[in-house]
Amino acid sequence: MTDQDGTGPVSTGTDGAVHEAVTKGYESVYGTAPQVVWQAPGRVNVIGEHTDYNDGFMLPIALPHATRLAASLRGDGVLRLHSAQSPDSSGITELALSDLVPGSVPGWAAYPAGVVWALRDAGHDVPGADLYFDSDVPVGAGLSSSAALECAVAAAYNDLCGLGLTPTQLALLSQHAENVFVGVPCGILDQLASSCCEEGAALFVDVRSIDPAEGRTRQVPLDLAGAGLVLLVIDTQVKHAHADGAYAERRRGCEKAAAILGLPALRDLPYAGLDAALERLPDDGLRALVRHIVTEDARVEQVTALLDAGELRAIGPLLTEGHASMRDDYRISCAETDLAVDTAVAAGALGARMTGGGFGGSIIALVEKAGAEAVAAAVTSAFAVQGWTGPRAFTAVPSAGARRLE
Ligand code: ADP
Ligand code: MG
Repeated sequence: MTDQDGTGPVSTGTDGAVHEAVTKGYESVYGTAPQVVWQAPGRVNVIGEHTDYNDGFMLPIALPHATRLAASLRGDGVLRLHSAQSPDSSGITELALSDLVPGSVPGWAAYPAGVVWALRDAGHDVPGADLYFDSDVPVGAGLSSSAALECAVAAAYNDLCGLGLTPTQLALLSQHAENVFVGVPCGILDQLASSCCEEGAALFVDVRSIDPAEGRTRQVPLDLAGAGLVLLVIDTQVKHAHADGAYAERRRGCEKAAAILGLPALRDLPYAGLDAALERLPDDGLRALVRHIVTEDARVEQVTALLDAGELRAIGPLLTEGHASMRDDYRISCAETDLAVDTAVAAGALGARMTGGGFGGSIIALVEKAGAEAVAAAVTSAFAVQGWTGPRAFTAVPSAGARRLE
């Protein structure tokens, strides 16, 4: 099994070692020491795909892979950005705060600049800053490198400016930045996971009630290692180009179906009422979208109940069912993710599914610890037979959300 830990320059080591490495990077770019170092993680979603924009449920975990940010405030209304991973990694992007308007910043810099814009748009009179990023979250692999970037900025500004915002509020601001400033119509899943997850737990999210004080959205203990299990993430390294358009199309379809059914969102259709509701829809396409969303919400609740009961192995078949639903009803899988899932299950995984928005990206597979190597190797061999570039596998350890490094 190839392990991705180690690909990034600051991916391993203690908090102190990571802090030192990122500080050095910042100093080499800006010539002084940063005021703070923060990190925000990537995520995988255990179950609950495309349910977020239907006001439904999902169950992500944060990954050990994170975007690290060394930051200092500036008093002259200028925002400077540098990423060790950007194509222009030798340069600094310099922006005037007064020029920040949606759509004004091209490329990767739009994500961090968008968060600063979103903070100011929400009435927080935050100043400019020097920001240095270094990340080991695989980019564009469905593991939310974009949310990691945004949530690191939101958390660092919250700290530096004493804003007193909660992780949930920071997630909402980050989503607003991606929706409006960058122009990507994502739901709240990625940013909530990156901001709010806790080590050793999955985060049950009810989009209608994301404030943890209300008691619905909550941490669900997930001790995989203690149960002798491994959650493998296998990045297919494939991303099909039509993903954005297909996402928008699915989203519109869900809104249309909810309107026809007279519901605020598909979350309001109970599982028991599914068959009757399907008969009221005009075509098979809409029926299939609704079937996925309603059964997926039910799967999230079933998986959460099993985890609460300590029955970790029993979630396997629900993961595989979730994949079939994405493949046959929501039609967002592709040959590569289907092959990875089928091969993982045939090689002994308890369950497997594509994770993330679809059309490529990563799959997860729940496996017995002793069988993890064999499952990863089987997927690699199956890809080789097709002549596809090697997939990359690593273990997803449920990790902490955004936090400050000392
Ligand atoms: P995902 O969030 O699944 O990784 P997205 O397409 O949503 O995929 O976000 C990927 C984009 O985020 C990249 O194309 C890049 O613009 C930006 N990005 C993420 N991480 C970094 C980083 N460390 N440095 C520069 N840009 C980054
Ligand atoms: Mg993203």
